[in-house]
Amino acid sequence: MAPHDPLPGPRLGEPYLLTPGPLTTAYEVKQAMLRDWGSWDDDFRALTAEMRTRLVGLLGAGHEAYDCVPMQGSGSFAVEAMLGSFIPRDGKALVLANGAYGLRAAETLRYLGRDHVVLDKGDYLPPRGAEVAQILAGDPAITHVVAVHCETSSGILNPIEEISDAVAAAGRVLLIDSMSAFGAVPLEPARLQFDAMVSSANKCIEGVPGFGFVLAKKTALAAARGNSASLSLDVHAQWAHMEKTGQWRFTPPTHVVAAFVEALRAHAEEGGVAGRGARYVRNRDVLVQGMRDLGFETLLADRWLSPIIITFFCPADPAFDFPTFYDAMKARGFVLYPGKLTVVDSFRIGCIGQLDEHVMRRVVAAAGEVLAEMGVTSAAPPQAALDERSKLAS
Ligand SMILES: *Cc1c(COP(=O)(O)O)cnc(C)c1O
Repeated sequence: MAPHDPLPGPRLGEPYLLTPGPLTTAYEVKQAMLRDWGSWDDDFRALTAEMRTRLVGLLGAGHEAYDCVPMQGSGSFAVEAMLGSFIPRDGKALVLANGAYGLRAAETLRYLGRDHVVLDKGDYLPPRGAEVAQILAGDPAITHVVAVHCETSSGILNPIEEISDAVAAAGRVLLIDSMSAFGAVPLEPARLQFDAMVSSANKCIEGVPGFGFVLAKKTALAAARGNSASLSLDVHAQWAHMEKTGQWRFTPPTHVVAAFVEALRAHAEEGGVAGRGARYVRNRDVLVQGMRDLGFETLLADRWLSPIIITFFCPADPAFDFPTFYDAMKARGFVLYPGKLTVVDSFRIGCIGQLDEHVMRRVVAAAGEVLAEMGVTSAAPPQAALDERSKLAS
């Protein structure tokens, strides 16, 4: 660990994870897992209660109408639980897709046998309010709209308030996958209307992986009874059981929950959503400026860049090879993330986790060293990448 690191970050020899989760967690978060908990015991019930209260509080103004239902499994389990529990069996969903997670939501609906249509904007173009309004006006059978807040596959921050306005104006219900944004980007019921949203333990709250959680209107939770075709992923049943007993229905990931509550306390100390978001914004700004100074270009124009994860084009220079770049960055202590664009080569660098702007400066310095080592003279992307990018007007 470098002496100027104000964040504990990883231990000696462990690389920083510049990934969208699992990510680099604080030592205190890992340490919180060194104790065993009885799932039925009062101590663990208190931990679950504290977690639920803190999470609902992160919604900010208007949170009183909402409740929190944690769900075992990775984030996708929670998405599946939300879709299967809030969309009635005779409902119909419009899925707004601009990347892998939107497409996964559509795939989930196909498995669940829920009628749905997909607005597929390709690799990264954002779904806009006007087109959502138009689709809803043309199809009165649509009852629910499923939107991804930050589409982690490109790092785009989708215009969720614009989408919410269109859905609310059409009298439909919005369900949000805010997996990679919640806790760092505001999602306030006072500013947008949604029945439910999901996130998970190992994203912006900086816990370790093992469960997700649904934040939903209490009225929607009560109305969701009988919708789910899955026993273990029934959000209503988990909620009803938790309200009655204070316990999870089936074995909870006790150590992960203990680590997560520690992470929530640290999140509050950092200044909640605003404080966490501000650190990630600084991480992003230092990273993007530094990489641009090296000649790299981002897929997205500034207005669409999330403070979560950034997609950079691979340089056109034939001396550049991503696996070599990846290994050399890892040797310097930084684990990057491959890109997900279908048209041009790219890679991603995450801004979330126990990292700050000092770490980001070191990431940029390391990238510069590695380019020189590889003999890359220009980090400029190929023309095809720039042509692709021009599809998205800033
Ligand atoms: C991480 C993530 C998920 C869930 O992925 P899991 O691998 O199942 O945890 C879902 N949606 C988005 C936008 C994500 O970033």
